[in-house]
Amino acid sequence: MFHNCTVSNAQGTFNFNDRKPCRAAEAVYPRTEAELVAAVASVVREKRKVKASTAYSHSFPKLACPGGDTGTIISTARLNRVVSVDAERNQITVESGMILKDLFDAAAAAGMALPNSPYFYGLTIGGLLATGAHGTSLMRKGGAVHEHVIKVRIVTPAPPSERIAGRLAIVREIGADDPDLNAAKVSLGVLGVISQVTLQLDPLCKRSLTILRKDSDADLVELVSTWGHKHEFGDMYWLPGQRKVLFRPDRPGRRFHAGGRSQPGLLPPAAHF
Ligand SMILES: Cc1cc2nc3c(=O)[nH]c(=O)nc-3n(C[C@H](O)[C@H](O)[C@H](O)COP(=O)(O)OP(=O)(O)OC[C@H]3O[C@@H](n4cnc5c(N)ncnc54)[C@H](O)[C@@H]3O)c2cc1C
Repeated sequence: MFHNCTVSNAQGTFNFNDRKPCRAAEAVYPRTEAELVAAVASVVREKRKVKASTAYSHSFPKLACPGGDTGTIISTARLNRVVSVDAERNQITVESGMILKDLFDAAAAAGMALPNSPYFYGLTIGGLLATGAHGTSLMRKGGAVHEHVIKVRIVTPAPPSERIAGRLAIVREIGADDPDLNAAKVSLGVLGVISQVTLQLDPLCKRSLTILRKDSDADLVELVSTWGHKHEFGDMYWLPGQRKVLFRPDRPGRRFHAGGRSQPGLLPPAAHF
């Protein structure tokens, strides 16, 4: 445990949206779910405010700050392992502090891929779920990662009935049939600390990527919906200063690439539309 802490985001101490650092009385780094339960029990006992934080903290709003310098940070930096892989059902269970890149790699090694994801693979699965982070798609379940979550394990304060037995924190396993799953997975971190996440993935296959340039943005509004319904992962970059639009038809091919989206900077030069 560390005391008298300053939380900064990945861009620096003063790079939150109010340009001020965030203070916390202490930070703990559980390595197992049991240690996470103990950490939550400890803040319940001491009646402290608490917030989950991650290894890099990429959100610009102060979402990970516990509200005042007497609060506690529970970091998921050391909860970053694969728990289990079910290649037959295309399912993977990981700890919530795992970053997307490691999730892509673990899934790909088992022949699976996340159908859609945010652009940047340095985010953690717990952090991106809590903020409803998404990629792009109008088809199937859409572009949000939380649509592919089928189970979470979340550590919360124990209800009063359990506290009689001396338990201050409990693990709740919330599955796909439970309506609480919707609240638990996109919670801005206010309902507890997610310990593990199980995702329903797709079989791995390649994707076909091209970039097309359109030298006018006059019909941009109409194009958004037609383009979105033509290509499962279709993407558009509007360059308002140049009145141009870059289109990326992005179709599933025989096998997916491991991530849901690719980095535009790595794509080949644009062709004319
Ligand atoms: C370069 C870059 C590209 C991005 N691209 C996209 C994009 O394409 N699409 C998009 O939608 N967003 C995008 N984002 C935003 C990004 O999704 C959010 O900033 C994301 O929430 C940050 O995740 P993090 O893992 O760093 O979490 P943090 O910033 O550390 O935490 C975010 C929130 O999640 C909570 N939280 C974290 N872990 C847990 C847990 N285990 N249990 C409960 N709550 C938890 C925290 O308390 C906090 O409220 C991008 C951000 C960056 C920096």
